[in-house]
Parts: sequence; structure tokens; C-alpha cells
Amino acid sequence: MDPAELPDAAPGSTPGESAPVHVVTVAHPKPADEQAAAGTTGTTWADLAFAGSQLTPVDAALLTQALAITTWHARSPFCAACGTATEVEVSGWRRTCPNCGAQTFPRTDPAVITAVLDSEDRILLGSAHRWETHRYSTFAGFVEAGESVEAALAREIEEEAGVVVSEIRYMGSQSWPFPRSLMLGHFAVTHDPTMARPDGDEIRDVRWFTRAELAEAAEAGEVSLPTRSSISRALIERWHGAAIHASSDARPSPAAGGANRVAPGATNGATNGRSGQAGQQPR
Ligand SMILES: [Zn+2]
Repeated sequence: MDPAELPDAAPGSTPGESAPVHVVTVAHPKPADEQAAAGTTGTTWADLAFAGSQLTPVDAALLTQALAITTWHARSPFCAACGTATEVEVSGWRRTCPNCGAQTFPRTDPAVITAVLDSEDRILLGSAHRWETHRYSTFAGFVEAGESVEAALAREIEEEAGVVVSEIRYMGSQSWPFPRSLMLGHFAVTHDPTMARPDGDEIRDVRWFTRAELAEAAEAGEVSLPTRSSISRALIERWHGAAIHASSDARPSPAAGGANRVAPGATNGATNGRSGQAGQQPR
């Protein structure tokens, strides 16, 4: 779509000003167009996981919401009750079935993401098989049907890293629309750090770090950390007590992928037990 075809959207407007904000998805961006855009206008394609850390909080929130909503539309074209094509209503915040009247709304899957500490205040990080070998992050997984947040957290950590945790503390949350997670960030403590071991399935390696060890390894490039916009990184830096200068932060903007697509690896930092969603797990 030519930007000139867009309806009037107050330039520079913010949600607090109650101005309309429009979302346009590009299903198949042409490489030539992307190159032209990058060369002539200074614009480029980037995924949210990387670009988020370079946007203002308002713009990052807008992009997160846009991605969540457009992904939901792309994946929910039919009525789950009768299979009829649904119709978009309420400015895109509801879909209604014209046959049976069923209404559906954008969904969110709760997921827990956890920084595990020991009694010496070290942090346990894991490296997943599908990442580059030196990438380490916190542990994450979806809350399964019938589980509490605390039970899901303890189960995921024991499954993936072998340790039993207690003293669970909530830190904060982050919307993670890959495709529709809400990451619930926690700290937890294990009193038997010697039990730490990778599950050998999703997790290739687990490793304890002191603050100095992690800062030195990240700066030297021995360890790659999750992106600065991720809650996983926030958990790690909250524990560390200050920002960590990781050489992995300097990676270039990911290759063009389209505003409504997510590049594999555009994730938040850890692992989960839900299969079949490579590149879209809560991280
Ligand atoms: Zn229906």
C-alpha cells in the first residue's frame, strides 16, 4: 500500500491524545522495495524484539499491540464453533460469526519466565539447542491448563534445568506477541545448585554465573544475552544491579521480514515445553 492511500492518522499522535492509530500489514514485501526504502528514505524493516529497544516506550507499546492484534486476525479467520468466516468489528478488537453469533476476542497465553538464583546469589542461565551455542538466557514456558503460575514456574524449571525452586517473587510482565504471550517475570531460588543440568532436549547447557563472570563473558562475546527490549534481559540486569554491556547488543538490524512477520530467533530468552512453535516460544 502506498502511504498516501492511508486515512488521516494524526502525525506524531499518542494514545493519550485519543487520536486514531492505523496498522497496515504487508504480506509480501518486495526486496527491491525494501532496498529502495532503506536507501532513499532512511527506513528499514526490523523485528520487534530488536527494534523495541530503540523505540520510545509509546512507539514500542503501539508496535507490540499492533503485532498482537494483526497476528490474531491472521490466525482467527473462522468461527471456532461452526467454521463460518467471521467478520471484523469494533475497530478490529472483535470478530463475530454471522452464522451462529459467536464472538471472539484477541487472546493472550500466560507464560512464566524466571531468573533462578542460588544461596550465593549466582544466576542460572540456559542455552537452548536451537540457538547459537553461546547464547544464554532465563527459563520460560507456558502456563498449562489447570496450573497456577507458581506450579508452572516450578515445573518448567525442574524439567529444563533440574533444580527445585522456592521463594518465588514476581518482578513484572511483558506482552510478547510471538504470537500471543504475556510473559510473567519472576525470581526464584534453589537451595541445591548442584542439581542443575540441561534436559538434553530443549536445553543444551545450563551454567551458573556470578555477577562478575556474566558481565565479563557478555562483554567479551563469550556469552550472548537476550535483546535489551526483553523481559529476560530485564530480569538478568535487575539481578546484576546495573546494565550489562554485551557485545551481542551491537548486532545489526535483522534482515527484512515484513511488519507482521517474526523472524526465527526473535524471542525473549528462554525455553518452554510447548512443541511445534519454533521461533515463537516465550523467551
Ligand atoms: Zn459460528
